[in-house]
Amino acid sequence: MANLETFRAETRTWLEANCPAALVGRGDSALEGVWGGRKWVWSDPDRKAWFERMVERGWTAPGWPEEYGGGGLEPAEAKILAQEMRGLRIPQPLIGFGLTMIGPTLLQFGTEEQKKEHLTRICRGEIRWCQGYSEPGAGSDLASLQMKAERDGDEFIVNGTKVWTSYADQCDWIFALTRTDSGGKKQDGITFLLIDMDDPGVKVSPILLISGSSPFCETHFSDVRVPVENVLGEIDGGWTVAKALLGHERGMVADAFGSAGGGGGRRKGLADLAKDYAGRDGERIADAVFRDRVARNEMDTRAFMLTVQRSKDAARAGHRPGPETSLFKVYATELNKRRYELMVELMGPQGLGWEGEGFDPTELAVTREWLRSRGNSIEGGTSEIQLNIIAKRVLGLPD
Ligand SMILES: Cc1cc2nc3c(=O)[nH]c(=O)nc-3n(C[C@H](O)[C@H](O)[C@H](O)COP(=O)(O)OP(=O)(O)OC[C@H]3O[C@@H](n4cnc5c(N)ncnc54)[C@H](O)[C@@H]3O)c2cc1C
Repeated sequence: MANLETFRAETRTWLEANCPAALVGRGDSALEGVWGGRKWVWSDPDRKAWFERMVERGWTAPGWPEEYGGGGLEPAEAKILAQEMRGLRIPQPLIGFGLTMIGPTLLQFGTEEQKKEHLTRICRGEIRWCQGYSEPGAGSDLASLQMKAERDGDEFIVNGTKVWTSYADQCDWIFALTRTDSGGKKQDGITFLLIDMDDPGVKVSPILLISGSSPFCETHFSDVRVPVENVLGEIDGGWTVAKALLGHERGMVADAFGSAGGGGGRRKGLADLAKDYAGRDGERIADAVFRDRVARNEMDTRAFMLTVQRSKDAARAGHRPGPETSLFKVYATELNKRRYELMVELMGPQGLGWEGEGFDPTELAVTREWLRSRGNSIEGGTSEIQLNIIAKRVLGLPD
């Protein structure tokens, strides 16, 4: 215990000395931050300095082993670091699907060579990863996927199309589910491949979203050659790996969207926004109905984030996420959608701006984030599918 208290004091001192002042107290919203990768362009020198200092210490992935570029911290130490960073509202030095999805899955299923190669590059922000699961004919029914990987000596030749691949146009590698056997049960002939997107056979075309941004893409594979050593897990046994990764993904979505919304980054939180638009009564929101709704949302958010923290502690201590992450995902989705509905209602006509001088930057951002929040009930598996998983695999209800 004394050691942990010493660790806490030293960590706080180090964070205060090393995190650039402009970043302290700022936090980040769900998708803000440094994503890294070959195409990353630095626009903020403070972010760069912070990133480099944390990489040097292994604290982009504090709990991962040092030999793979992590910090080698014990679970209790990693928790303290997270608490101190939250306390100071210091942003994460690096975010992305490498750290939250493929990294933990590599730790579980990767060979020693795969861990050394990929985890190290993730920790150093050198490679940005995207997820190649969904296909035009395989979303909720993911195991129906058809993208083919045919064996040719020491390689697979990959042909097919993935869709809704978030940030594929900015990524370097993709983890993809491929069909290696079409006989038998559809879950049985799937192989999980790690694919370098530098291959000339990989083509990416962005898709425009309702929010006006274009973070997702169609990703086409035409005779892409992938070495057999890039199989994660067993050939034809990729479904097990795929499900494990989805557990990490749903936990990440719950964390990001449960806490997101207005409070992150430089924008005002929900309560301050309510005071601006529904009036102030001293320190309170003047309108009693909005006051009640805002208080409920804030209390639900805090209670939910404490639950998320407990599940993160369990993960740090080695617990692997199971079907219960679907509960988190559904709750975070509903909470985030409710939060944005409330913000747009609070702003009234100012919450419906798209562009132009009649709206300030916060108003324009909230409108687009409100539209983006609708996607929460689809990404990472739809809410209906999560409810099916909860019914069958958590509650054990019959089909
Ligand atoms: C913001 C966002 C980011 C995404 N990023 C990625 C990514 O990076 N990589 C990736 O691979 N995919 C990504 N996706 C795709 C996402 O995983 C799929 O859209 C999702 O799994 C649903 O598949 P679908 O779109 O084919 O819908 P469908 O499966 O066609 O579903 C249509 C509707 O039918 C319902 N439905 C289907 N089956 C059942 C059932 N058995 N019981 C009850 N209802 C059912 C669904 O709930 C839904 O309402 C992303 C999606 C979004 C919105």
